[in-house]
Amino acid sequence: MAEEGTISSRTGLVGILGHPVGHSLSPLMHNAAFRAQDIDMVYLAFDVLPEHLPSAIAGIRSLGLRGVNVTIPHKEAVVELLDEVEESARRIGAVNTVVNDQGRLTGYNTDKSGFLAALLGLRAEGATGLDCFVAGAGGAARGVVAALVEGGAAKVRVWNRSPERAAALCSQAAEWGQTPCSAIPRDEVPGAVASADLVVNATSIGLMSRIKDSAIPVDNLTSNHVVFDLVYGPTLTTLVREAKARGATAIDGKEMLVMQAAGSYELWTGRRAPADVMRDSIDGDR
Ligand code: NAP
Repeated sequence: MAEEGTISSRTGLVGILGHPVGHSLSPLMHNAAFRAQDIDMVYLAFDVLPEHLPSAIAGIRSLGLRGVNVTIPHKEAVVELLDEVEESARRIGAVNTVVNDQGRLTGYNTDKSGFLAALLGLRAEGATGLDCFVAGAGGAARGVVAALVEGGAAKVRVWNRSPERAAALCSQAAEWGQTPCSAIPRDEVPGAVASADLVVNATSIGLMSRIKDSAIPVDNLTSNHVVFDLVYGPTLTTLVREAKARGATAIDGKEMLVMQAAGSYELWTGRRAPADVMRDSIDGDR
């Protein structure tokens, strides 16, 4: 980030488009990284209503932003507004990073690579050989399932509140790799969780939820489980706390957040992201 008072006519601009965005930690992470690497760029948050997304995307071109992150509720709608979408993001049907190369906008999905990077931090083999249970079938779950299938998981079972979305995700996942992926009804969830190695919550049920609202029956978790909750906030999520109490290895979504941010940063700057700086910038948030 440009030093305070030194923003000039040459300072580059990136940001996040979402609604709401007031809670976003992305400006903290990116501006800390720009400062650490002495890069003359700033990162701002833009609250964009769904009906204004097309004009906001047009504004990236007309104002010459270097790029943006895109978050809820725009990750899927933005796909059709770009000039090009990288293969993996197109498969997932969701973009979280846009790069502007002289007016040509390309979409990427660093949520998927961020999930994988965070998983690699827990287990050096990543998804290879794992029996996985995933709760959710929204944009984030699609990235998770793609990462698991492409990463060579042994099997993936998906439960979602709206079953047709889980079924659609699994039928698409059949095109992404060899890993069998099946959509399961709620009454099969306890068995699937009990036998899984990796349990992922990719629903928005999280911080303030009562554990009985969680799709994941925490009493079925043991010290053999790795639990990955995509949700994050100022405190550990209910799922992570309950999983740790039962001896499981458990993390919330903060490391994935840092690693997806690192991926976006590298696309915009061409520099290796200072992930430690980004992590430290939001650690005080907990
Ligand atoms: P999304 O596309 O809106 O999907 C939301 C998912 O949550 C859907 O599967 C939805 O089920 C489910 N859901 C919502 N309310 C529910 C409820 N009351 N009971 C059961 N299921 C419910 O959102 P997303 O982009 O996938 O994000 C999902 C979560 O992941 C969010 O909390 C987001 O903050 C988090 N996330 C974290 C990171 C990170 O870097 N850590 C990155 C991306 C996302 P239906 O299909 O039935 O509606």
